[in-house]
Formats: sequence, structure tokens, C-alpha cells
Amino acid sequence: MTTTHKSLYEDVQVQFNKAADLMNMNKGIRNILSQTANEIVVHFPVKMDDGQIKMFTGYRVQHNNILGPYKGGLRYHPSVDLDDAKALATWMTWKTAIAGLPYGGAKGGIQFDPTKCSDGELERITRRFTFALGNNIGPEYDIPAPDVNTGPQTMAWILDTYLSTRSQGERNNSLHVVTGKPLNSGGTLGRDRATGYGVVTTIAEWARDHKLDLAKATYIVQGFGNVGSWSAYFMKQKGAKLLAVEDVSGIIYSEKGIDPEELITFAKNNHGKISHYPNVVAISHKEFLSLKADVFIPAALSNQITLETAPLLNVKLVAEGANGPTTPEADLILQERGIGLIPDVLCNSAGVIGSYFEWLQNKRSEYWEMEEVIEKIKKKVIEAYANVSKTAKAHKTDLRTAAYIVALTRLEKAYIERGIFP
Ligand code: NAD
Repeated sequence: MTTTHKSLYEDVQVQFNKAADLMNMNKGIRNILSQTANEIVVHFPVKMDDGQIKMFTGYRVQHNNILGPYKGGLRYHPSVDLDDAKALATWMTWKTAIAGLPYGGAKGGIQFDPTKCSDGELERITRRFTFALGNNIGPEYDIPAPDVNTGPQTMAWILDTYLSTRSQGERNNSLHVVTGKPLNSGGTLGRDRATGYGVVTTIAEWARDHKLDLAKATYIVQGFGNVGSWSAYFMKQKGAKLLAVEDVSGIIYSEKGIDPEELITFAKNNHGKISHYPNVVAISHKEFLSLKADVFIPAALSNQITLETAPLLNVKLVAEGANGPTTPEADLILQERGIGLIPDVLCNSAGVIGSYFEWLQNKRSEYWEMEEVIEKIKKKVIEAYANVSKTAKAHKTDLRTAAYIVALTRLEKAYIERGIFP
């Protein structure tokens, strides 16, 4: 995997400026949205298993909340820093606006490698981070969710710590302080698969528009965690053939195709990793990116399709399951090469849509059936895709810029209606 790192937040600004210029956005509102509202950095101590006290640095960036409470994931990874959190928080504002949700945008995380920690250490790190964030999160204020290397268990620890620090009376009406929770702790059926389901729903919409038969299509996936594995699961239901998968442990390829469900079961028993999966061949990162396939689903980290790697791609469509996998320079190369792209803010938006339905159920003390949740997610994703696609045609632009225009138009209208205090 490519590891060169540049400022993600600069990339967001390039994308933002392109759309704001094209739609001739109100200057004052453009100023507001070009900055983040709050940037919270906390340093906190944790007692490790060997008895030593270690200091950790955690981030929570809140970009904008004109449309509703801040919303966005928490990531545990050595690459987490303020710049990344600012970029990811800003993308959340666009994403929730594109999906038509009553949310703003936030993101955060802790800079460390969770694979080097025991479960006990992970729990203590998570609880101290939640405690350090204090009132900077809240069920009607800022609602975290899972992201890279965090999941339902992380959310359960955050929930428990948050509730334990509230007054008795507040505890039972604060379940919606985090989403992506385990089912018994107020999670919703369908949230686990929501993002992958949405990724494949947008691919199916694109395929219909571009006359690509998914039943005969081939694809490759980078990242086989929550988003990558569920995307592959739903691509199988469309009849598509998985040729290769890359994750942190290696790259596997099979000309005959890899069965996503078998790989999911294998990875579950192999600490989430795909290495040593039988009857496949190992290929290099460069070979992986150069494979001829119909669809490439990046579902790991940002900055993967760059000036150097975009010329290698041999696919018809890039469906951004991950956030920020494509740099602005690479976007231009893909466009010149006629490779389609479904942007992250649309492609993976079903994650936050699923979170919204979990949040609603918690607020109303309801439990919905899986089919109901999935049906509601499908409707919202298809509506968002249609809106972005229509906007792209109207402005004669790419889907990413169109998605930004949809989001910025919604935000601009809200600011114009409400004005600026005082
Ligand atoms: P995850 O932790 O479940 O999985 C991450 C995957 O990426 C793992 O398979 C890991 O092996 C792989 N990976 C990590 N480093 C890698 C490397 N250097 N090379 C190759 N593979 C590598 O995370 P996730 O929740 O699936 O998130 C993946 C992406 O999707 C992130 O960009 C995240 O922001 C985005 N996203 C997630 C959700 C969600 O609901 N979980 C929603 C929207 C967007």
C-alpha cells in the first residue's frame, strides 16, 4: 500500500474551492465552511499492562453543525493527527448534507497502533479518552461512531463511560451518544453491513447508468475490514467476481475468483487478516493496482490513488468505500483516462445513514427489523445518488464536484435563512 502522506485537509480545500467556484457560492458562507469550528486535542494517561503509565493524544474536530449535531467516527491508527481529523470532519459535513440527514460533521481518534495493545489496554485507553472528551461529546451535540480499528466494542466502552459520568436521571436518555453499538447496548440491526451495502448500491446505480452488467463484472478490494468485507459480500449477491484483495497483512489474487463469504470466515479466525488464505497467489502492490477489472473498491486508508498510482489503474470504476483514497491530482488523471469515480461522500454515506437510524431508534425507544433498516438505507442512498448524478449533468461536472455542490447548496440555504448571530 502507498504510504506517502501529504496534507489531507489541503485536498479537501482543493475539492471545496472547485465546487464553490462552479456554483458561485456566497463569499461569507464560503469563508465559514472553509474552516473547522472546534479542534479539541486531549493528552491523557493510561496504565498499561506492564504497570507503566503512558500518555496518549486524542483528537475530536467538529467542522460544522448548522444542519444538526456533529456526527462522525473515531479512528485508532498511528496516522491520526489534527490535519487528518480536520479533513475527515469536513467530509462528514458534506456527507450528512448530501444524504439529507439532520447532522453536521466531526471526526477524531487516537494516534497509536491498537494492534500492539491488549483488550484490557484498549478498554482503558478508550475509557480515558471518553473521560478526557467530557462534554465535548453528547447525544444531541456530537455523536461518535466506529471507523478504522474501532467497532461495536469500542462504542460500548464509550457509552458505558459516558453514562457513568452523567447524573442518574440522564443515563437512560443518553443511549444515542454513540452509534455503531452492539445490539444489546442499543445498536441497530443492519449497522454492521450498512456502509458496504451502500457502497454496492451506488455501484449498482452507476452500473445501470453506464450499462455495466454486474453479474459479469470483476472487481478488486483494498481493505477487508468492515467496509471492504461487507462490500464484497454484497457484490457477490450481484454476481460479481472478486479477483484480488489487499489488506495490512498482504495481497491475494485468484483468476478464478475469491469467495467473499469464505474469506470473511477465514479472516474472522485469523485476527481479521487475509494472509495465508488457501488456493490464491500473492502479488505485489503494483500488480494489484494494475489488475484488469471492472471495479476497484478502495476500503482502507486515504491517499492511495495518487499521481504515481492513478496511471496504473486498469478499471472502469473506482468506488470510494474509504474516505479520501484519491488525491485531487489523481482525480484529474482518472477523468482524463475515462475512469468513472463514485466519491466517498456519496459512496460510503450509508454508514452514517445507518447510524442515523440507530440514533432515531434510541431517541424513540424503538427496535426496528433488519429489513426495515436496510430498506430505509437503500431509499436514502438511491435518492442521494440520483440527486448528485442530476447535479453532475446540470453543471457538466464530475460526481465528486457535483456531490459537493449538493452539500454546499444545502448548507448555504440554511445559513441564508438563519443569518449570522448576533
Ligand atoms: P476497519 O478497521 O474495519 O478495516 C480497515 C481495513 O484496512 C483492514 O482490512 C486493514 O487490514 C486494512 N488496512 C489498514 N492499513 C492498510 C494498509 N497499509 N494496506 C492495506 N490495507 C490496510 O475499517 P473500516 O471501518 O472498514 O474503514 C475503512 C475505510 O472506510 C476508512 O477510510 C473509513 O474512514 C471508511 N468508512 C468507514 C465506515 C464504517 O462504517 N466503518 C463508514 C464510512 C467510511
